[in-house]
Amino acid sequence: MAFKKAAPAKKAAEKKSAPEKPATRKAAPSGKSSWFSRGIGATEKETARQADVREALSRSRRLFIPPATGQKKEVTKRVIYLDESLDDMFNVKEHGYFYKKGSGKPPVFKTCLDQEGGECPHDEGGNKGSFTSFLSIINTSSWTDKNNKEHSNNKELHPFKVDQFALFRRAVEKASKGKKAKLRGMVFDVVRLQGDKSHPTGDTFEYVETLDLRNPKDLAKYNLKGVDLKPIDYMTDLAPQDWEAAEAWLKTSGFGGGGSGKKEQEEEVPY
Ligand SMILES: [Zn+2]
Repeated sequence: MAFKKAAPAKKAAEKKSAPEKPATRKAAPSGKSSWFSRGIGATEKETARQADVREALSRSRRLFIPPATGQKKEVTKRVIYLDESLDDMFNVKEHGYFYKKGSGKPPVFKTCLDQEGGECPHDEGGNKGSFTSFLSIINTSSWTDKNNKEHSNNKELHPFKVDQFALFRRAVEKASKGKKAKLRGMVFDVVRLQGDKSHPTGDTFEYVETLDLRNPKDLAKYNLKGVDLKPIDYMTDLAPQDWEAAEAWLKTSGFGGGGSGKKEQEEEVPY
């Protein structure tokens, strides 16, 4: 069972998510930058910044579907689900931080340190966060990175909000025709029909077919030979930062006061 296997890692993550709280955790003083600094504060900041860069690099890419607005036609992403069933869905509360439209910066998501009681620097900073569920997918659509390198068949996280998941679940159950839904190998076209106010990870789920991911013929159909088809290790990928690192990030990121995360704004940047 996947859950059993994950147990030791879970313990570690729990430890990680409930760090000793430092005696003082007041809001950051309005940290205006200047040409010099004194004391150990700056090195601590830099340590936090570097930890954050490392953290960002270890996170999986997330499915992103550009909205259909104005002249832009809707975009369809064909994705293959890797988790055995919907029961393998991994849920966390997470805090979204969104940069101003046009900044070109993708949003930042931070796993809540305490889903139960708001014992978390992000909650204390005023960012309420939201319940999000994750599945692993292969995104069969191709994309080009900054260096003009083309990628396809990327393993990505598919995040769902509660309302969105209800639609997806319905589509999966319908495709399973009453049998216990087995998700692994199911192929869906994910579309975002409801414009830029809708979830950037899809609002319409059209069943295509179910692949047997052990069958070479099925793999060949989507060019999956050699692609790692294990679901994402959520315990690692979505583990929260510890208290100090989260607090330091809030101080250095400019989102210290809860940021624009209070109201989710849409960014047309893949993440
Ligand atoms: Zn939180």
